[in-house]
Amino acid sequence: MARVALVTGGTRGIGAAISKALKAAGYKVAANYAGNDAAAEKFKAENGIPVYKWDVSSFEACAAGVKQVESDLGPIEVLVNNAGITRDGAFHKMTIEQWNAVINTNLGSLFNVTRQVIEGMRARKFGRVVNISSINGQKGQFGQVNYSAAKAGDIGFTKALALENAKGGITVNAICPGYINTEMVQAVPKEVLEKSILPQIPVNRLGEPEEIARAVLFLAADDAGAITGSTLTINGGQYMV
Ligand code: NDP
Repeated sequence: MARVALVTGGTRGIGAAISKALKAAGYKVAANYAGNDAAAEKFKAENGIPVYKWDVSSFEACAAGVKQVESDLGPIEVLVNNAGITRDGAFHKMTIEQWNAVINTNLGSLFNVTRQVIEGMRARKFGRVVNISSINGQKGQFGQVNYSAAKAGDIGFTKALALENAKGGITVNAICPGYINTEMVQAVPKEVLEKSILPQIPVNRLGEPEEIARAVLFLAADDAGAITGSTLTINGGQYMV
């Protein structure tokens, strides 16, 4: 039986590549998104993957959304917590709205979504949770106190949840991408990208979303059961930990 996978933020960027790779590998995939209906409908039409609109920063919305996915596809066995946003600004000018939006979407969502599926995974003694953190959660970044805090939090969440569930057939891992070629990074001014960012990346290019998807497939596999609590960096050699 095909396993069921939920990818949050699964309709664009890295999440879309993850959704497509999981489908190609035989999983039944549900792709969640927040509000970009046009992108989601295009993604659905092109890939035949059902899309589910809800805000992962809301616990109640996650409860309803996961219930709908499970009623349509079956119990979720693979969860990829990928949805994320940036609201950059120097900390001394950062607003509480910028702080809350990023913390709630990039860190709160891991509680909001994972809490809905963890009891089922424990009962069935199988689960794979993959959290998409960031290089900037590992090393910090100017203008991203909110984002770096949330993404570092994702790593702590990963380790603690991995410990609690290690005996139950559930693995929990984090992936820390470096700069990946998605709309999030395309929003960075070209000059900043070429003059400041690329010279810091030893492979001298952005990563591709498919390179993150490949790692998700690896961690989600049935025979990856001994890999838990790990943090996998995929950053072209930019930051080695
Ligand atoms: P994109 O902006 O390209 O796509 C983000 C996706 O997340 C969209 O599908 C979006 O939905 C969804 N999303 C955003 N907020 C919510 C929400 N509140 N509820 C539900 N879905 C939401 O992002 P990327 O693909 O670049 O990033 C994916 C993940 O990878 C993020 O967690 C990001 O922090 C992380 N990352 C990205 C890096 C990069 O270089 N791109 C580097 C390191 C980490 P909608 O289409 O409706 O807006």
